[in-house]
Amino acid sequence: MLHWGYDEHNGPAHWKEVFPVANGDRQSPIDIKTEETKYDPSLRPLNPNYDPASAKIILNNGHSTSVEFDDTVNKSVLTGGPLSGTYRLRQIHFHWGSNDEAGSEHAVDGMKYAAELHVVHWNSEKYSSFVEAARQSDGLAVMAVFLQIGECNPQLNKITDRLDTIRIKGKRALFTNFDPSCLLPKSLDYWTYFGSLTVPPLLESVIWIVLREPISVCSEQSAFVRLTAMRMDLGLTFWFKIPASQRQDIVQLAKFRSLLSTAEDEVACCLLRNYRPPQPLKGREVRRN
Ligand SMILES: [Zn+2]
Repeated sequence: MLHWGYDEHNGPAHWKEVFPVANGDRQSPIDIKTEETKYDPSLRPLNPNYDPASAKIILNNGHSTSVEFDDTVNKSVLTGGPLSGTYRLRQIHFHWGSNDEAGSEHAVDGMKYAAELHVVHWNSEKYSSFVEAARQSDGLAVMAVFLQIGECNPQLNKITDRLDTIRIKGKRALFTNFDPSCLLPKSLDYWTYFGSLTVPPLLESVIWIVLREPISVCSEQSAFVRLTAMRMDLGLTFWFKIPASQRQDIVQLAKFRSLLSTAEDEVACCLLRNYRPPQPLKGREVRRN
């Protein structure tokens, strides 16, 4: 495995070869069995408090698309919920699948959603940087939001409308004046458990906060998705085939799937899916508020 990714030769099943913690005791994601979660009256409401001015850039890192925030000061923070102290917003990114039946990382009673948003924060009260915090058991707090196929989500357009400009790995563009709480559902009720990053190096430093209510995303018929994959081989994009009048409405998820995992000087290849499957619970407790 030269470079980790989501393909046959370098996907999640291979990560343990280079990152042995992949078999560790608090790996993520997990399948949340709702009947086995434990109501914990001491869990407080979540309190996200984000400043739109801290959004900086949107980029394609070859594994996902992310929006990066200025985290040099406590401008945008998450408090409350299961957290002690203040966690500073670092970035948000998405996981999706090659079709609408899978794409989320966490599952709920065995059911997967079409995609999942991760809002990544680090413990700025105890640690001095994201890198330092990522190695501590209470270093990171990631809020997960499920995306369910349904109505097009106008808030999500703020991101999907920009993906055309960052299709190639390594591309970045300015992305300012954005408050990620516009992507959160009405209810901030959640499940919480101790887990890990879901991408290498899979560090076991994440307090997961998985929101129970999904937000909506629109896709298109799966035939269109396959069309995207085929066209990619030819170096074309399927946008040419969709009337301009319809583009906005049908293809939020397709826009994620049209991103490339390859850089400018490489043979173009696609990022049709980027999720890790659920990992063993290994005796961990999942609590709910
Ligand atoms: Zn993630």
